[in-house]
Amino acid sequence: MSPITTHFAGLSITQLAEQFGTPVYVYDAAMIRQRVRDLAPFDVVRYAQKACSNLSILRLVREEGALVDAVSAGEIARALAAGYAPSPQDHDDDAIRAGHHPAIVYTADVFDRASLDAVLEHDLPVNCGSPDMIDQYGERCHALGRRRGVTLRINPGFGHGHSQKVNTGGEGSKHGVWHTDVADCVRRAERWGLRVTGIHMHIGSGTDMTHLGKVGAALEQVAQQVGTSVLTISAGGGLSTPYRGDEPSVDVAAYYETWNAVREQLAASLGHAVNLEIEPGRYLAAESGALLTEVRAVKRQGSVEYVLVDAGFNNLVRPAMYGAYHPIGLAPANADSSGDAIKTPAINPEASRERVIPQSAIRNPQSFVVAGPLCESGDVFTQKDGGFVEARPLPRPAVGDLLVIGAAGAYGYTMASNYNSKPLSAEVLVENGEPRLIRRAQTVEDLLQHEI
Ligand SMILES: *Cc1c(COP(=O)(O)O)cnc(C)c1O
Repeated sequence: MSPITTHFAGLSITQLAEQFGTPVYVYDAAMIRQRVRDLAPFDVVRYAQKACSNLSILRLVREEGALVDAVSAGEIARALAAGYAPSPQDHDDDAIRAGHHPAIVYTADVFDRASLDAVLEHDLPVNCGSPDMIDQYGERCHALGRRRGVTLRINPGFGHGHSQKVNTGGEGSKHGVWHTDVADCVRRAERWGLRVTGIHMHIGSGTDMTHLGKVGAALEQVAQQVGTSVLTISAGGGLSTPYRGDEPSVDVAAYYETWNAVREQLAASLGHAVNLEIEPGRYLAAESGALLTEVRAVKRQGSVEYVLVDAGFNNLVRPAMYGAYHPIGLAPANADSSGDAIKTPAINPEASRERVIPQSAIRNPQSFVVAGPLCESGDVFTQKDGGFVEARPLPRPAVGDLLVIGAAGAYGYTMASNYNSKPLSAEVLVENGEPRLIRRAQTVEDLLQHEI
């Protein structure tokens, strides 16, 4: 993102902010569509909707041919509302061998009671991350006279991830069936008349192809152990997003080659075709989204200059939770639409309040800590893991300017909260140059309505 960012998906940022208010999440539909298309070599792109689950976004990825994951009764309801439909074929091995793929898969490490009820009501396939899930699902299926397939999410005993909080393998991770418990899970499944039809591993490997190879080999070994009932393997999610401009993009072709080799070896040894799924969340949504926020105060605390904006970790928690880096650009309130000369408030208050300075002068930025309005010192968008604040080079902002916090489409809105009784923001989808409100902002009345 360039230091001065006046447009998003072809639209003026100041006009978007004027029309929809701030803070506001904006998404670029074309970017999401492109990211789904990038993954076309895989048999199935199964969107991990927890990254960004607005119904309009779900409909968009469905139009692009992606299927969906659900991790809760709420996400099941969203998938259904977005038009994903379960089918009797979801449990028919012949149909799956012939290339049928279930639209919705429930994948988790536990069934809370509402989720188990919803899974049975809609007869959804499940991906089990703990032996107890097999027994709980199996018991209910047995009582209903259903003989279903289940897939197993395996923890191979090692992990990877951009932060310890998102590491999804190894002893330090709660996720998945421990790799030495596979035989026990197969026995449990058989006891209830279930069969194990797929193996899944979600160990984010990002751009690390050596690590990915290890994950593939581990998955193959488990699938061999389970044997010919395996029809589907899933590479999970974890494809990385270049949050910083200088980070490499994930090599999708290499990713596919690694997994396709696993699939082909497995198909050869099992003697039948094996479906290959990928399950991205971040990869589809992150780059498409930005959080627009208005500068409300600029102040100096000793040697540090703070820019305080109207969005906080109630809107975007990744910096506070993981020390995650998001690119930040400035959209001056009075930006000249031509972009090569920009009116900015004077750096020196003695000088005129408004003057035109050339972009080249703005390229010599100062550093600012960008923080939100919450009553919590961790409410800082520019911080490293461990909570150390870090000033960011930016053109000097003034009250009324907008900041564009980029690469915020994944784990942005979906992790937002009502902390400090802040209403959730609006969401806007830009498609073909048209901005469309896809969720109205909460009101304070919305916040109070369920309280007694
Ligand atoms: C969160 C999750 C994903 C998506 O992860 P990303 O890193 O966003 O791609 C995929 N599969 C499962 C099981 C998950 O829990």
